Amino acid sequence: MIPSPRLLLTIDYESWYAPSRRYDSLTSKERRNLDDGFACNALDPILEKLKDVKTSIYLVGELVEWYPDLPQKIADAGHEVGFHCQVHRPLTTVADIEHDLEKSFEWRRKYNVRGFRAPMINTIEDVYPILERNNFIYSSSLYAPTGTVLRKGNIWELPVSTFPLLGHPANIQAPRRMNLPLVLGGEFPYGSSMMSGLFTKTVFRIIERELKAGLSPVIFLHPYEIVPPNNWPARFARDLLANPLLYPFTFNKSNFLNDLLHSFPISTLADFIKESAQ
Ligand SMILES: [Zn+2]
Repeated sequence: MIPSPRLLLTIDYESWYAPSRRYDSLTSKERRNLDDGFACNALDPILEKLKDVKTSIYLVGELVEWYPDLPQKIADAGHEVGFHCQVHRPLTTVADIEHDLEKSFEWRRKYNVRGFRAPMINTIEDVYPILERNNFIYSSSLYAPTGTVLRKGNIWELPVSTFPLLGHPANIQAPRRMNLPLVLGGEFPYGSSMMSGLFTKTVFRIIERELKAGLSPVIFLHPYEIVPPNNWPARFARDLLANPLLYPFTFNKSNFLNDLLHSFPISTLADFIKESAQ
């Protein structure tokens, strides 16, 4: 059955420095010190803001090691606990993906995690059989036009939304990440919080239009875009100088989130897939 159109609002729950690759090789302890309690303290205000609206929250597993209450709090508030990798860094080889899944096995099992969001929305076709072996039902790890629902073996793939300006792409395969070929191919990746940071009103209008057309957009936000970290974005200045494309990730999207929550029907991806499968 085709589920009623709704906004599939997701949060990639990661520390404030996750968009930069400069911290990938630090030890977990060093990253925890850098996080400085942010990922722990941001959750309550975010859950408060979401109130009764249920979203999919993809957790970085390392944060669960540091702050073991996170997944239970998310689940208790009625949201879906999903997986955004154990340590936030590119995962584009079979060996790295398998290793990451092994390290996250215990907490994923405990919270019955069934949804996967690849870091940086960048994955490979080989991820799907691995996800299947690891008890996942779906992934949301590509960019593709809204309404795209793929079956990769037994795994559903529900891509993050793009708006195709030059017609639909023919063959949708991983990787489909935010890069020049995607944009030059005429796809506006409005599901990314980079785009909702730069073109807030346009993204809102596209969501409105897609819903009217019966489609269900998939978009993501990050905790640091809803609850600004201390001394923000100054503490990220060096990374912003090195890569100015990261700047939109530091914009406060709290008002944008409020507008979404007040304007559109919203559900988790898990519920959307459950209804699709009926
Ligand atoms: Zn991420």
